[in-house]
Amino acid sequence: PNVVNKIAAGEIIIAPVHALKELVENAVDAGSTMLEVLVKDGGLKLLQITDNGCGIDKEDLAILCERFTTSKLQTFEDLESIQTYGFRGEALASISHIAHLTVTTRTKDSDSAWRAYYEAGKLAPIKPGQGLEPRRVAGRQGTQITVEDLFYNVPTRRRAFRSTSEEYNKIVDMIGRYAVHCSHVAFACKKHGESSASISIQATASTVDRIRHVYGGAMASELLPFETEDSRWAFKASGWATNANFSMKRTTLLLFINGRSVESTNIRKMLDEMYAALLPKNSHPFVYLSLEIDPQRVDVNVHPTKRQVNFLNEDEISRALCEHISAKLAEVDT
Ligand code: ADP
Ligand code: MG
Repeated sequence: PNVVNKIAAGEIIIAPVHALKELVENAVDAGSTMLEVLVKDGGLKLLQITDNGCGIDKEDLAILCERFTTSKLQTFEDLESIQTYGFRGEALASISHIAHLTVTTRTKDSDSAWRAYYEAGKLAPIKPGQGLEPRRVAGRQGTQITVEDLFYNVPTRRRAFRSTSEEYNKIVDMIGRYAVHCSHVAFACKKHGESSASISIQATASTVDRIRHVYGGAMASELLPFETEDSRWAFKASGWATNANFSMKRTTLLLFINGRSVESTNIRKMLDEMYAALLPKNSHPFVYLSLEIDPQRVDVNVHPTKRQVNFLNEDEISRALCEHISAKLAEVDT
């Protein structure tokens, strides 16, 4: 069974950024207002996330890394809708099969923090010869997840990485997305051993400040907010878009569906077409789009990493969105 679990884990987590994304989402789900990420060797050596969220009960630590352990299923009715959000109790389990995983956590009601170490879905001794029991340690409320030696037991995967800086860039990119979307959360991300952070955002920073901090962008391009509710296709959307060239390098699309960073070929294509009609050739605009739709309409099982999604009425929704955004942009152009 461990071999099966290891293979399954290797499909969900192909690169360090996939583990990172799951851990960031967990921290956000835990109600954190502060999230700190430390990375060594592109996340292959170390990936550490510290949050100040609700913490994990000591009693839950024993089963934390068993598959389908989740606190996010309240009732059976939730099951279907919540699965589509990606709440499936598989992330920590998967990580424990392909890395060394240490969890240090403290809830509000606990008088100390607890540390547990996992191997292949189960508690393991922190050091050889020691017991399995979580150990009492000093620590503040919240959770710290430490992932070490990712893919240590999957040599083919480990060898597939060309450069650790490429993996680090993917991690920074993902954190940047959540830093824009989670507008009340402080974010920090840095490489182990470096004093300056790649991302450092205060909890109080505005969305525009977050976008500028992470993406910079030509000052000439204005960031314009939009917000719309569509009863016909039953969606809500909000975000920010530029009305001019934003970046020298590429068009940036930050897409969130129901609070999760995802990719949609369809929405990207529609936005490209919209901007092609608005801006000079080779312009690279910026769009941050947060879409809320009934989770039952979203299919996240296009790919095991759940990054690419399809959803019902994709064409109609994409078109309605582009119409709304281009109308907003036209308002200020004249
Ligand atoms: P899921 O997020 O799908 O429930 P995970 O494997 O990602 O599954 O996490 C399992 C459970 O561990 C979560 O449901 C949650 O109860 C707990 N958990 C994980 N990370 C954190 C965290 N940073 N803070 C609080 N609880 C956490
Ligand atoms: Mg999770």
